[in-house]
Parts: sequence; structure tokens; C-alpha cells
Amino acid sequence: MTEPSPIDSNENIQLKQPHVVSVFALVGMTITAIMGIVALFNQNLILGSGLFFASLTYFIGYYAHKKFNNVALSSAIILYSLYLLMFYLVFSGGVGNTGPLWIYIVAPVSVFIHGLKRGLIDIAVFITVISCIMFIPDELIVHAQYSTEFKLRLLYSFLTVTFLSSLYEYSRGQSFKHILELSKKYQQLAHFDPLTQLSNRRDALRILKREQARIARSNESLSIIICDIDHFKKVNDRYGHNAGDAVLRELAKLFTDSIREQDCVARWGGEEFLFILPQTLAVNANIIAEKIQNQLKHYVISYEDKSIKVTVSMGISQFTAEQSIDEVINRADKFLYQAKDSGRNQIFPKFENIT
Ligand code: GH3
Ligand code: MG
Ligand code: MG
Repeated sequence: MTEPSPIDSNENIQLKQPHVVSVFALVGMTITAIMGIVALFNQNLILGSGLFFASLTYFIGYYAHKKFNNVALSSAIILYSLYLLMFYLVFSGGVGNTGPLWIYIVAPVSVFIHGLKRGLIDIAVFITVISCIMFIPDELIVHAQYSTEFKLRLLYSFLTVTFLSSLYEYSRGQSFKHILELSKKYQQLAHFDPLTQLSNRRDALRILKREQARIARSNESLSIIICDIDHFKKVNDRYGHNAGDAVLRELAKLFTDSIREQDCVARWGGEEFLFILPQTLAVNANIIAEKIQNQLKHYVISYEDKSIKVTVSMGISQFTAEQSIDEVINRADKFLYQAKDSGRNQIFPKFENIT
């Protein structure tokens, strides 16, 4: 079927959580605004203005996310304005030369926002700029003075925090991948039959409901075929259960190759298959059924050194506006039993007399 399977929706799950980016922006905006007010109270006009400017940039980052849903842009605004603020705090010393204490925020925020690889590249650039600012000779540009021990320990401790943040981000990424794989696996088990990889009964019912709703809107036709392998128990008894499994797999492949893009074949029960055929009248479903039956005439399934031939019986039913899914399936089932009663390897109802 062309409809995306429920599994596809998982692919859309992203490693980054956009809502966390907006929380960062709001927290950054609030903290810098509060610190800006405090700086103004302390008559530190330059620091106050810098902090208000940072607060404004966080707001812009938040706005870019909310208004344009542009996570990449708002992440870049938030992260790089944080870098600029840190450069300024290290350069100016902030309040009482405590400005550099804030740089530890950069490590976890960088790897979280930009992921491990790009985050580490960003951090490398950040450390380089911070080192340049701190080690620039005072004769070149006047800036806050720190002791050499302080500067070195600041860098060592920052590198330690970077290492721990990276480790955390790495294990977070690994756990996320693991959860994604588990979720895919369970979705696969919930919707597909593990032996044949066809839709299972539950998924077939989901597709039937969707198709029924579609024909109610569009007045198009919809038919089903229930197909049951004849004397399958004998196949198991004669060749073994594994050979029976191989037959089911081979038939699933043959059926899948015999239908159109918009059709679906599901494993309806043990050795029963259900074909769902949109835009198909019962008479045309009969043509598909005959085609499959003809293919099976020449089809030999090889399993180990055994050659196995099987036939199938089929019952066809077309949806009408008044009938429920159960009623349509029961009618197809009734025709299937008629086909079995008439000697198997048959298709019911017969359409030979229809012109
Ligand atoms: P009929 O022509 O009337 O349909 O006869 P049948 O033998 O096909 O039908 P019956 O209902 O008597 O037996 C169905 C058999 O299908 C019995 C069961 O062991 C086998 N079967 C069901 N599911 C599987 C499966 O997954 N693998 C294998 N190998 N056999 C299965
Ligand atoms: Mg059966
Ligand atoms: Mg059978």
C-alpha cells in the first residue's frame, strides 16, 4: 500500500528536542535580564547594557523558534549569543572578576544544542577565543586581569566539564537510538507478521477501516479476497513444519508480486491470506484471483531437497455502502467454504457468465 506505515512516523523523531531550545531561550532571557537589573543597581552601566542586549537576543531566539518554527536558527542565536556574553564577561571580569565562573554553562549547552561533533568543534573555537582574551597582554588591550593559576585552572576545569558533558551527550544519544530501535521493533511486531513480513490481521483491519471510510466519501469500489491454502495440514505432515513455513513465506512473496501498488495482502490467519483491493469491482477481483491461481499451477516451492506444490481456494466479496466490515468478510468466508466444498482450488462466486 502507498500509505506510510506507522513505522515511518518514527523516522521523524529527532534527536534534538525543540521545546528544550525554547526553554533555554526563556531561562537565558530571564537570568540575563535579572542580572542586567542588578548591574544597573550597582551602577555598572556597561555590564547592565551587555546583559540586556543578551536578554534581547535570547528573546529573538525564542521568537524565531515560535514564529518561524526554525529550530536551527533559534539554536544558533541562543548558543552564539551565549558565547558573546561569555567573551564579554571574561574580558570585563563581570562583577568583582567573577565573570569567568559562568563559562561552564557553555559546555553542556553546546553539545546539547548542536550535538556531539558540531558541539565539540564550537567548544574548541570557544576555548581558543577565551584563551586569547585572557592571555592577551594588557599592553595591547586593557582587560580584566586574572592570575596565571586562575586562568590555567579555569581552562582545566572547563575541559573536564566539556569531557563530562560530551560523555553525557554520547550516552544520551546511544540511549535514544536504542529506544528508537526498540520502538521500531515493537511497531513492526504490532503491525506485521514476523514469518511472512505481511501486514497482520490487526493491520489489515486498520487498512480495511480506512478504505471503507474512503469509499464512503468517494463512491469508489472496494473488494476483498480471502485465500486459504488447500490441505495445508498435509504439507506440514508430509514435509515438516519448517517446510510449511517456507511455503507460507514463498506464497506471501508471490501474492505481493501479483498485486498493484494500491492493493494490500495480509496474513489473515494461520494459512489464510486477505487481499484488500481498492478501486476494484468483485468481477475484477475475480480476474486477480484467477491470475494467482494460474501462477500457482506452474509454481514449485523448493525447500531443502523437496519440491512442494500447493493450490488455494478463494472467496471474493465487494463492499457495499450498507455493509459492515464483518459482514463483507463473512460473505467472503462463506464463498471460501463453498470453494472448499466444491473440491478446492476454486474461486467463488463464479463470474463466468458475466459479460
Ligand atoms: P483446508 O483445505 O480445508 O483448508 O485444509 P487445511 O489442512 O489447509 O486446513 P486446516 O485448518 O485443517 O489446517 C491448517 C493447518 O495450517 C494446520 C496448522 O498447523 C497449519 N498452520 C497454521 N499456521 C501455520 C504456520 O505458521 N506454519 C506452519 N507450518 N503451519 C501452519
Ligand atoms: Mg484455514
Ligand atoms: Mg487450508
